[in-house]
Amino acid sequence: MKLKQSLNKKNKPLVSSKKVIVYKKTEIGTSEWKKFVKARGKLHLQKKILINPKTANHFIVKAGQFFRICVSHGSQVGDLNLFNLNNLNERFFSGKTRALYGTHLSTKDRLWSSLPYFRPMATITYDTLDWYGYDKEGASVHDVIGTRCDPYTNKLLNKKDYHYCCHSNLLRSFVKFSGIDKKKAHNYIHDVLNVFMCTGFTNDTKQYFMKASPARKGDYLEFRADIDLLGILSVCPGGNCANTHSSDKAQCYPLTVEIYKSLDLNNSKIKKINISNFKEKMNY
Ligand SMILES: [Zn+2]
Repeated sequence: MKLKQSLNKKNKPLVSSKKVIVYKKTEIGTSEWKKFVKARGKLHLQKKILINPKTANHFIVKAGQFFRICVSHGSQVGDLNLFNLNNLNERFFSGKTRALYGTHLSTKDRLWSSLPYFRPMATITYDTLDWYGYDKEGASVHDVIGTRCDPYTNKLLNKKDYHYCCHSNLLRSFVKFSGIDKKKAHNYIHDVLNVFMCTGFTNDTKQYFMKASPARKGDYLEFRADIDLLGILSVCPGGNCANTHSSDKAQCYPLTVEIYKSLDLNNSKIKKINISNFKEKMNY
């Protein structure tokens, strides 16, 4: 494991160079953002989907509709996969979304799709946990750093078989929806947005850590679908992820997904973003 860079006698790093932000933010312009805010001001509830602990379920959101992931029963973490409903090969690209916005997402951030499509799939329009920001340990909520809990890592580290990790829940739900063979379906399950999970990297060793989610009954994370979406949400066996995951030890609660239509006529005028127009040159 890497250790912190050593310091010289004046407490200055031995090697020092200027930090450069790798990617500039792709922010939504002020006038465009006003349209999102107006559109979310006139939401009409169309559907509610209750998802039980240690299971996953799918939901469909058409472009221009809104959806909320709601803490409906008690503090609970959820693992979200997103697909283009009309092309399941286009799916959420957690790594590049992280590179664009940082380790944790909140209002105004967008969830980008995988290469070669690479466009916003959904935009976060409201986050009741915005107030949390980054705490003094560098932790925050809704991370794109933690992949998803899975039975393979659990087997490696704990030598136990556990069948209700988010990876397995997402897989079962995806197979049920798509009819795709289980072996092939593994390739479709991807790194998630860890909704409501409170995480960070330790200061010294930069290891991934979790702490109790600050989410409480009534909290929600709201998105506007930029394209037609298939969402799959797993209700993590870690509960609020205060102590453990990948086991039946934690207290878990259901999560609810709510689908809304906007009654604001200008909602349909929000700019649609097409897939990337970059063309790979194969004979270079
Ligand atoms: Zn999980």
